[in-house]
Amino acid sequence: MTDLGGSGSRGERLNLLGLTRPALEAYVSDLGDKPFRARQLAHWIYKRGEPSIERMTDLAKSFRARLAGCAEVRVPEILEVRQSGDGTRKWILRADASQAFEMVFIPEDDRGTLCISSQVGCALDCAFCSTAQQGFNRNLTTAEIIGQVWLANRELAAAQAVARLGERPAERPITNVVLMGMGEPLANLRSVIPALKILLDDHGFDLSRRRVTLSTSGLAPQIYRLAEEVNVALAVSLHAPDDALRDELVPINRQHPIAELLEACWHYLDEQNGRSVTFEYVMLDAVNDSPAQARRLGRLLAGHPAKVNLIPFNPFPGTRYRRSPAEKILRFRDELNALGIIATVRRTRGEDIDAACGQLAGRVIDRTVVRLGRKGTARLGRSTLSVVVQP
Ligand code: SAH
Repeated sequence: MTDLGGSGSRGERLNLLGLTRPALEAYVSDLGDKPFRARQLAHWIYKRGEPSIERMTDLAKSFRARLAGCAEVRVPEILEVRQSGDGTRKWILRADASQAFEMVFIPEDDRGTLCISSQVGCALDCAFCSTAQQGFNRNLTTAEIIGQVWLANRELAAAQAVARLGERPAERPITNVVLMGMGEPLANLRSVIPALKILLDDHGFDLSRRRVTLSTSGLAPQIYRLAEEVNVALAVSLHAPDDALRDELVPINRQHPIAELLEACWHYLDEQNGRSVTFEYVMLDAVNDSPAQARRLGRLLAGHPAKVNLIPFNPFPGTRYRRSPAEKILRFRDELNALGIIATVRRTRGEDIDAACGQLAGRVIDRTVVRLGRKGTARLGRSTLSVVVQP
């Protein structure tokens, strides 16, 4: 039987969105048709953005009728759209009656980056992240993860068509996808791996592996799993140059400390023939931003294929942290550069619509509180973690 991953609950029609090509081929042959129909279907769904099986006109009418009886293309529902003064756009999408998740499009001169979510809320409880304040509600399905890219493509293409009426068709608006929205993608590998495969598949979204980036807070064992399955760019939220501080800021560090995490990163690069890992480092005033800390970080990474991306902290209501002043951020960058490490400062985008890094809070109301809280972590064994980390 076909694996109906991401199809929703029983009795519903199968959601074709979110099936990898082998799964789509298996489904089509279960229906008694040739596997090449799967490629045609994928072309309609991903390349042409067509949600209606009825309108997939080069498929035989009888096949369309059979397919429409048991399957559909079901995309997340848009609850709200916010447009920032700097061109950044955020969509709030329905997860269910009381829950929402978010995606953000960041246009730049030479690229268009879509930042997508992998979970509703997050369980990892990083001290400086607003999503963490919400707690964890549930994993997104593959269809919901892929549905974000599908929807954003449609929305942006429609906006371009209006803006450039009469001109030649615009280029594809989304050139890069980053899993840096709500959630910890490596805690939802079951949905995230097929989603990454569809993003890369030349019959799917056909993105190059360098243009798809997964960002993790540092689930070291899952980095090994990822290395076996799919080849995308890896970003790691490091945020501190030593275990004592990282234990505070990124509590998963208490289970997978820096040395174990870095080993997993270098293994990933070896396995995937990757160029470098990007280490994200949020700049928190008087917490992790001193020149000595920069040098310590530099020594940790020197000689390895590593880049550092410094992220000015984005405040949110109730936080005890402040953003480092610009001159401290530049000094930190210069210290790293002096040690031969490429370090860049991320330009903050979409702040006016709460779309900047760490500001995605969705509306996680009915949350299950499985956060790695300050007190809780000491007591957390593997069994508790398995609530959020799928095999
Ligand atoms: N869970 C994943 C992906 C989501 S966060 C991870 O931890 O990597 C994407 C990036 O934004 C991470 O590097 C995260 O640490 C950073 N971030 C979170 N909150 C932030 C904030 N308030 N200001 C700036 N960056 C933040």
